[in-house]
Amino acid sequence: MHADDLIVERPEGLYCPPGDFYIDPWRPVARAVITHAHGDHARTGNQHYLATAISEGVLRARLGADITLQTLAYGETIDHHGVKLSLHPAGHVLGSAQVRVEHAGRVWVASGDYFVSGPGDDNATCAPFEPVRCDCFITESTFGLPIYRWRPQRDVFDDINAWWRANAQEGRASLLMGYSFGKAQRILAGVDAGIGPIVVHGAVQTLNRAYREAGVPLPDTLNVNDVSDKNLLKRALVVAPPSVHGSAWVRRFGDPGDAFASGWMQLRGARRRRGVDRGFVLSDHADWPGLQRAIMATGAERVIVTHGYEAVMVRWLQEQGLQAGSFHTEYDDERHDAQEPQATEPATVQAEEGGE
Ligand SMILES: [Zn+2]
Ligand SMILES: [Zn+2]
Repeated sequence: MHADDLIVERPEGLYCPPGDFYIDPWRPVARAVITHAHGDHARTGNQHYLATAISEGVLRARLGADITLQTLAYGETIDHHGVKLSLHPAGHVLGSAQVRVEHAGRVWVASGDYFVSGPGDDNATCAPFEPVRCDCFITESTFGLPIYRWRPQRDVFDDINAWWRANAQEGRASLLMGYSFGKAQRILAGVDAGIGPIVVHGAVQTLNRAYREAGVPLPDTLNVNDVSDKNLLKRALVVAPPSVHGSAWVRRFGDPGDAFASGWMQLRGARRRRGVDRGFVLSDHADWPGLQRAIMATGAERVIVTHGYEAVMVRWLQEQGLQAGSFHTEYDDERHDAQEPQATEPATVQAEEGGE
């Protein structure tokens, strides 16, 4: 680390010394810039928040309506203590942003979580990731191992549709579990709503409203209590957070086919550990080639890796001739809104290569 770094590690979180603010702090601070409203990045207790205007509704719903929140449009610049700050699309969830800071002729970008996969294979439910030129790029690396390569989303949705259709023909509901913020809406935007009715958990419905208000088209979604003809449930796709698994909430659907949608489903054994019929590999994070492409597109000479398999990515970056290091952060996808399967250590993951 250098004395004049624009963003440094502190016990509270990533800190910009000349601007005197934190980015996604994990301990309460005076000024917090929030990349997106997932629980591991947007925490309670900060005195002042800055985030994208699009994420305002979700942030207030999660952190309290009375938080002190200043919002910016994507690309809008403010000057704070001589630091120019702007927010740029990250393609991860509604309103998600990368933070660009410019001071004394240098530009740093902190990515937050972002989604980049095959060329053109963008997240349809939010503004796609936009590369921002910078001198130093702080990148997430949740899936920063060569085994993580996402198939085209269309292929994954074809698999989900085929599974739902087959269940519907047998008169069985299809319970598909995924994070209520982000994953659920991607599922909804990607499935063929002609197969049958779509029922969602209340946690998902609240977020659907935020997406629709932001102009993101989603198919009609019913609350379970709105369905009076119980026969309809037998053809339904049910989208709910992972916490419903094995709960009384699920039992009203009889004996549904069940599945889990997550990037972790690429790991062999992850589906079995979850105890579900099917695992669909669908992530809101960049895969290994996506991370590489996103990093290279910034033109950064220096890269700092966080939030995942730092060591493997740092080694790869150094092999490309870049200056690379890592920050220890306390972002944790466990905190999104339910438990994700534990990420295994790289050695174990390699042994499990092949997926299912
Ligand atoms: Zn996130
Ligand atoms: Zn995260």
